[in-house]
Amino acid sequence: MAGSDGLHVLEGTFLSNVQNFRHTLLSVNDGVYLTDTERRIIFWNRACQKITGYSPGEVLGRRCSDNILCHVDLDGNRLCESDLCPLYRSIVTGQPGKGPLTVRALRRDRSRISVEVSVAPLFGEDGSVIGGVEVFRDVTEKQELAELKARFLSGISHELKGPLTIIQGFIELILAGDAGETSPTQREFLTSAMNEGNRFKKILDDLSDLARFEATEFSFSMEKVDLSSLLEELAASQTGEAARKGLRLNTEIPGGITVLADWGRLYQAFANLLANALKYTEKGAVSLTADSGEGLVRVTVADSGIGIEEKNRERIFDLFYRADNQLTKKVAGTGIGLSIVKKIIDRHGGTIAVESYPGRGSAFKVTLPGRTTNLT
Ligand code: ADP
Repeated sequence: MAGSDGLHVLEGTFLSNVQNFRHTLLSVNDGVYLTDTERRIIFWNRACQKITGYSPGEVLGRRCSDNILCHVDLDGNRLCESDLCPLYRSIVTGQPGKGPLTVRALRRDRSRISVEVSVAPLFGEDGSVIGGVEVFRDVTEKQELAELKARFLSGISHELKGPLTIIQGFIELILAGDAGETSPTQREFLTSAMNEGNRFKKILDDLSDLARFEATEFSFSMEKVDLSSLLEELAASQTGEAARKGLRLNTEIPGGITVLADWGRLYQAFANLLANALKYTEKGAVSLTADSGEGLVRVTVADSGIGIEEKNRERIFDLFYRADNQLTKKVAGTGIGLSIVKKIIDRHGGTIAVESYPGRGSAFKVTLPGRTTNLT
């Protein structure tokens, strides 16, 4: 129940006492630490010590980037003091982090562990940001298991592609007449087999891509990216496909929008969204728009296509999920693309959401952290 100050504490009970809060925070099982606005550590609970090996005496007054936690993302990119550092962003923007993020942290013995991190700003009496709080838990075992699964999947899809390529090679030889004359029906069947083989290959490619996203060795190289040019280039690459389907491709992309990103991966994500927009639209228009402000960059890929029913909207980002209706089934697909898109956007610290009106179209809205510093 909220107290009169809106702090969700029942006044007059033991919790209205700040000292009690401190004791509670000290003993919870997750690592909890508080910093001032310079990210100097001002509180370090017991779980922080247990997880990282650092005692409060060793860290209080020091910055978390000062050789203490030194968060790096799963690809080894340094997060500290960059736009990608969740705590830093939270303090700068005054907003809580958008959800738990898995990063690697440095322990006292210099080993790296995987931790799931949530952050929020701390506010003073006058409502201004006076620091930040980070809550983290050790998820090293879970992460190792995910990486093992990813390597296994990647290996399997690689092994399956070998024989498939050979099978397709023989089909090509028969179609070319190397095994004697073929009838039109035989050629039709063989061409179908070839197309199904290509579809199978696409599934394997998508699967191995997905697996590699989960494995640490898949490298994202973050740099300053001119998002405006990236989106213009993408739109230009799809004008042919739009024209082929008789669709208008509208763009509204102001120049000069920059983000910290992996160019290739971000291009892949927006290319997937635009390809879907074109795929699931029969008439009208597809649009690609972008704008920036309040520390965020927003990109919207919208279409006037078949739309997505509400009951399917939550699940379309799940692996292999395809909306359960006839209109979707008429279009070839694997249900893998959007889960890759989501992973890429997540890895850039962004969000993706969908708005849709069945029969009238959909809009996929991506937000990415804007560049708040010139550090990178
Ligand atoms: P695929 O398109 O290969 O099936 P995706 O993962 O890209 O796989 O998309 C998952 C599902 O989301 C699609 O099968 C479709 O049902 C739905 N979907 C995605 N984009 C759109 C869109 N622009 N309009 C309508 N439905 C869409």
